[in-house]
Amino acid sequence: MRCNHRIAWPVGAVTQLTVGVLSADAALVMQHQQQRSPEVDAVFDAVIVGAGFAGMYMLHRLRGLGFTARVYEAGGGVGGTWYWNRYPGARCDVESMQYSFSFSEELDQQWDWSEKYAPQPEILAYANHVADRFGLRQHIAFETRVTAASFDEVAKCWRIETDRGDRVAAKFCIMAVGCLSAANHVPFRGREDFRGALYHTGEWPHEGVDFTGLRVGVIGTGSSAIQSIPLIAQQASALTVFQRTATYSVPAWNAKLTPEYRNAIKADYPALRAKARARPTGFYFPFNMKPALEATPEERDRQYEEAWQRGGLPFLGAFGDLLFEKAANDTIAEFARNKIRTIVSDPATAELLCPENVFGCKRLCVDTGYFETYNLPHVKLVDVSKTPIERFTADGIEVNGTEYPLDAIVCATGFAAMTGSFDRIGITGRSGQTLAEKWRAGPRTYLGVATVGFPNLLTITGPGSPSVLASMIQAIEQHVDWMADCMAHMRDIGAATVEPIQAYQDEWVEHVNEVSKISLRSTCSSWYVGTNIPGRPRVFMPYIGGFPVYVQKCNEVMSNGFEGFVMEGAASGNEAPRVRLTERWRVPLDIEVISPAAVAAKRVPVV
Ligand code: FAD
Ligand code: NAP
Repeated sequence: MRCNHRIAWPVGAVTQLTVGVLSADAALVMQHQQQRSPEVDAVFDAVIVGAGFAGMYMLHRLRGLGFTARVYEAGGGVGGTWYWNRYPGARCDVESMQYSFSFSEELDQQWDWSEKYAPQPEILAYANHVADRFGLRQHIAFETRVTAASFDEVAKCWRIETDRGDRVAAKFCIMAVGCLSAANHVPFRGREDFRGALYHTGEWPHEGVDFTGLRVGVIGTGSSAIQSIPLIAQQASALTVFQRTATYSVPAWNAKLTPEYRNAIKADYPALRAKARARPTGFYFPFNMKPALEATPEERDRQYEEAWQRGGLPFLGAFGDLLFEKAANDTIAEFARNKIRTIVSDPATAELLCPENVFGCKRLCVDTGYFETYNLPHVKLVDVSKTPIERFTADGIEVNGTEYPLDAIVCATGFAAMTGSFDRIGITGRSGQTLAEKWRAGPRTYLGVATVGFPNLLTITGPGSPSVLASMIQAIEQHVDWMADCMAHMRDIGAATVEPIQAYQDEWVEHVNEVSKISLRSTCSSWYVGTNIPGRPRVFMPYIGGFPVYVQKCNEVMSNGFEGFVMEGAASGNEAPRVRLTERWRVPLDIEVISPAAVAAKRVPVV
């Protein structure tokens, strides 16, 4: 079986996958997916693993280029994050008018976001709309988990296996598995003894959960907990929050979007998209480059107050040095702590909620009424920082010899971030080497898109790319466009495989590590560095150099004939590509935000 041998998806199987598959009807999807027979010996140009925004856009691009592709998705529908995370209060924290695809002006014009930060059902509806509008669904096999992917060095293709018995081959194996998709199930002692209901925010029941009248425990105080706690508190008869590390959170000030606001953006949407791409974060918001340490205390307070009133992640844009100078960071941290002290009426609870670590070191949270929730008489905060959760009992959770009686426990314990979903697939490259083995001391990639020893394995928002430090849909689009351009170029020159060169990869990994050290973000324990999961190596995994800097690097690599990659088997040599580079990725540095001095000092602020 040759991977350059192109075949179509068998007609019978397509029928089974498409008939009656309506985005709103999960039961029908399940029924039809269950009827599907395993596919054996099919060959595609690409297999894409995951049907979140990354997998969907990759599929759309490849189909546009005439490639055959099959997507496997473990869930019963598209949307990834927004399919799985259905907990109360789940919503985006990058404004919806920017947290959306930008590749289609028509889509931008057609879709109306209802709120500044859209709730999960609306984002999921958007994902389904995209799937339908661009005819993606029939190429996706749902309820199908990829279990293994091995590179066949003779046929020069990937052999992919699923838990539904599929055994297919593809020239490219494209990982669109998500950075925050492998739920972290903490193996608490006695977990199976608990007689109540147990939930993880990242795997929330589709039918929803009614907590009315129940005693509920929430473990964790990250973004998922902070969004869900105020809503769970509205239903529960008693709510106990188990906090290991206090979290900084900025109010969202979420609001309905008016038609006037939407229309003003839609009048020149491409301009907003272009401004967003030029920002280190991949999304646009007012940014004050002045260092906090050069401002007077009064100026600082005024500036922080203004930024607080705007709310959300842009709060970090109050000054230019907040993530680089500890003394500057101390000023914003104290401002945020004082806000907590003002909101929370019980001084002891307020102090417990005041974080001591660097502001914005862990991913900043954005909330609606989080701290206010602790003023409710039935809400209690339990500190597990020094005395960890001892065990689950039949009736609750035990900490420091005290049992907290509970009817339901919500684990808002996050994810095995960045590499967790890779670890759950047996990925084998050249000479039988596994990816798990290769990444044991931390992931190693070139540009976050590929890794030595695994030809034609492409990793969308892979470790070593801006990914989670940018607005992710923009990061996804940039990766997908770059990869699609690369694949089309390979077809042009008849290349069989693409693989990074070791020296270039080593240099990139070193650069990613070096740049991370200029940011205070590298100084604390967080999922950015993998330390939220015991036993993982401590490595700063995303690229913190800023989105435009990274995009320029990717562009240069492509313009220089995919410098740093080997393309094997090319009939006509690997000359510089007939520049396919998608025009919108010619991203200028935003000098308003990244001053030349900042670039020279590699001071590239990120959120
Ligand atoms: P995902 O959406 O994670 O999709 C990956 C898919 O791959 C999943 O559906 C999964 O089932 C599938 N998969 C994984 N392994 C396999 C396998 N072996 N076989 C088959 N399928 C597999 N980012 C922002 O920029 N702004 C936000 O406001 C924001 N809010 C977020 C809120 C929450 C609650 C969470 C958890 C994350 C948020 N993120 C946000 C990050 C978010 O993950 C990305 O924005 C984006 O949705 C990621 O898309 P993706 O397609 O790369 O990955
Ligand atoms: P998270 O930020 O990793 O938070 C997990 C929480 O669980 C932390 O408070 C952690 O404490 C706690 N925890 C983990 N293990 C524990 C243990 N054994 N005992 C006690 N506590 C434990 O996960 P998340 O909240 O799901 O968010 C992950 C990321 O997804 C976010 O950072 C963000 O990027 C994205 N997200 C975004 C939004 C949004 O607003 N749009 C919403 C949800 C998620 P420690 O801090 O001490 O480890």
